[in-house]
Amino acid sequence: MATQSLIGTADSQPIVPVPYIERGTERSLLLRAELATLLPIGTTMPGIDFDRLRREITMEQVLNLLGFIPTHRCGDQWYGHCPLHESTPQNRRTFSVNVSLGCYYCHKCRSKGNQLKLWANVSDMPLHPAMVKLCNQLGKEVPWIHRW
Ligand SMILES: [Zn+2]
Repeated sequence: MATQSLIGTADSQPIVPVPYIERGTERSLLLRAELATLLPIGTTMPGIDFDRLRREITMEQVLNLLGFIPTHRCGDQWYGHCPLHESTPQNRRTFSVNVSLGCYYCHKCRSKGNQLKLWANVSDMPLHPAMVKLCNQLGKEVPWIHRW
């Protein structure tokens, strides 16, 4: 009975505000495009509070997600196989990471940076989408920057 009455009213105006949701998305895309025109050429479009992510996401969390197992530890300085390239058993200390400072360096591929950059490099994605993915993996809300 209920299904029949739904079919019967299919021609009438839907009450679900789907067009409003679409309009909202277009508006935010437009705002972001407008914002991009205000920025100097070459500047990455803002949108995510990277400073906040750097403070809130630790190097250890990123290493855990990457399944990194240190082969050697010396206090906060950890060593192991580089997650960025194939390494031979002899390379088991080429990757060096300081978990309290939140920085890494690979003596083989020379990649270095903080925990966010490590995630982006391993994911092989630009920083912006990589951070969205990282937040999703950690079950964390993306700290979007709302400037309007
Ligand atoms: Zn490396």
